[in-house]
Amino acid sequence: MSSDFSPGSIQKVLQADHLTVRLGQHVVLNNLNFELGTGQIMALIGANGSGKTTLLRTLIGRVGFEGQILWMGKSIRDWSLRNLAKQVAYMPQSPSSDPGDRVIEVLRIGRFPHRGWMSLDHDEDEHLIREVAQELGLIDLLDRAIETLSGGQRQRVFLGRCLVQSPRVILLDEPTTFLDLKHQTDFYRLIRKLAEKRGICILMACHDLNLATAHADKVMVLKSGRLLACGNIRQVMNEKIVSEAFDMPMKRIELNQSFHFVPLE
Ligand code: ADP
Repeated sequence: MSSDFSPGSIQKVLQADHLTVRLGQHVVLNNLNFELGTGQIMALIGANGSGKTTLLRTLIGRVGFEGQILWMGKSIRDWSLRNLAKQVAYMPQSPSSDPGDRVIEVLRIGRFPHRGWMSLDHDEDEHLIREVAQELGLIDLLDRAIETLSGGQRQRVFLGRCLVQSPRVILLDEPTTFLDLKHQTDFYRLIRKLAEKRGICILMACHDLNLATAHADKVMVLKSGRLLACGNIRQVMNEKIVSEAFDMPMKRIELNQSFHFVPLE
């Protein structure tokens, strides 16, 4: 099946209808309905075990499901994994690379859906990789082994690997778990810049409620595999929903243009 479509022509990049996932006897995702539009940043929040990782992995075809998932209007069942990877990039919670891999080699992996594993390096790909490296401040690190980088630099490399896939959508699974506050903030600012500049749609699972609130446009709240709420941050993120999602009373504190949640106990 062809993955061609004209950029900008599709407003709804993702639609999930009655999405249910069972793993063994356990219903891990329960009848989810939601959609994602072009250029949006959607935060996926919920307590540990609420189903965030399972949802992201299901959306890239790695977990069997009931119901429907449409990417760019086409059922995921009709996309080959390779063609889907040209449109949708995924950064797992702990991205890995082979020991000794240099930054440039990790970035090249992002071109595999376009070129295949065995193809020779292509000038066009190298140009694109350097462009992404430039944008993410990785040019001086291209020859460094991944394991010699700081946590923040490494996350930028794995984000770069997603970007060189030239995707329309990036799914991020708790991308800032191992970063300190400054690097978390830097990372989310970078995401925002990329979403705006490249029109990329982002769906990101976030463990930090307040960072998610500060950096996303929309939010999806999961609780025990059910969709508790979905919509604009300011409307959805109220005390009732957030307290229910995390099983603890939370207070919303208004700041200048934004707001913050703190536990009441
Ligand atoms: P989160 O990312 O929100 O922490 P997960 O998607 O990792 O949540 O897990 C959701 C639920 O699914 C958890 O209760 C987890 O134990 C369960 N789960 C995950 N993988 C499997 C599996 N392979 N078999 C059975 N249950 C699983």
